[in-house]
Amino acid sequence: QAKKAGRNSIRCFDPRMQESINNRVALEADLQHAIDTGQFILHYQSQLDHCGNIIGAEALIRWQRAPQRLLLPSEFIELAEETGLILPIGQWVIDTACRVIMSWQHCESKKHLVLSVNVSAKQFQQTEFVSAVKAAVKKHGIDPERLKLELTESMLLSDIDETIAKMKALREIGVRFSLDDFGTGFSSLQYLKRLPLDQLKIDKSFVRDIAEDASDRTIIRTIIAMAHTLKLDVIAEGVETEMQRQLLIDYGCNHFQGYLFSKPQPIEQFDAQLQKN
Ligand code: C2E
Ligand code: MG
Ligand code: MG
Ligand code: MG
Repeated sequence: QAKKAGRNSIRCFDPRMQESINNRVALEADLQHAIDTGQFILHYQSQLDHCGNIIGAEALIRWQRAPQRLLLPSEFIELAEETGLILPIGQWVIDTACRVIMSWQHCESKKHLVLSVNVSAKQFQQTEFVSAVKAAVKKHGIDPERLKLELTESMLLSDIDETIAKMKALREIGVRFSLDDFGTGFSSLQYLKRLPLDQLKIDKSFVRDIAEDASDRTIIRTIIAMAHTLKLDVIAEGVETEMQRQLLIDYGCNHFQGYLFSKPQPIEQFDAQLQKN
């Protein structure tokens, strides 16, 4: 039967599959166009300490595909990764983040803020990654300590020596590192202790059910204990309720990010929030 379908099998192709291929091709072309015409923007979500002071923000990319159409990373980052377009996009993110940090440095009330930036696996694995970050830091004349790069566990597993070398090279000039979505990967303590990290970021999936789920509470306490053992700072993402914040504080977490404090927002709104803080 299969043989019979043979070279005409393309006709039996599910039309929905063809449609999704067409969509993908169109999306890829649009993505390239978006890069060329500057359709990306960064939103900023505040990060707070246990007293409620804003200590920094995470930059989160959005694609303004049309005036009324703002796309979230879940709608394009994967394709950007697959096509390699994440490289110019990632470079734009770092450059834009450095520009924002530079503007903060000129303002007495914002000088202390740290901006966290997500880095994709492909981007980090580029040979030129270290020099590209250094060049952006230099170009904007920023204090590298105000820049924090968020990596994920999975992207660090491939070549640990190379990973460590790159992180060390950037840490030498002051750039900080956070391990995003922590707890969802397979890092052992043995492995973690070799990484020159500054922070562990507790994944929001553990925070979500912290009030109801005893095993999530145990995981969170374990992560916080690990962070303390390794002398790392720890931040929880996805904090939506006062109850979650309180439990996290009880467990020794001292930095927070989530809808309870603010959604990711355009820089003007982030500035307004800072004014009130
Ligand atoms: P992430 O780095 O783990 O970012 C946290 C995500 O959680 C963000 O989704 C944020 O909007 C969302 N979030 C924040 N607070 C809450 C909360 O209280 N509750 C819930 N349910 N969610 C919350 P977003 O902005 O859609 O980004 C998704 C992912 O896309 C990011 O996850 C990151 O992996 C990736 N991403 C975002 N910006 C960039 C970028 O510039 N470059 C790269 N390579 N990836 C990016
Ligand atoms: Mg992140
Ligand atoms: Mg995360
Ligand atoms: Mg995540």
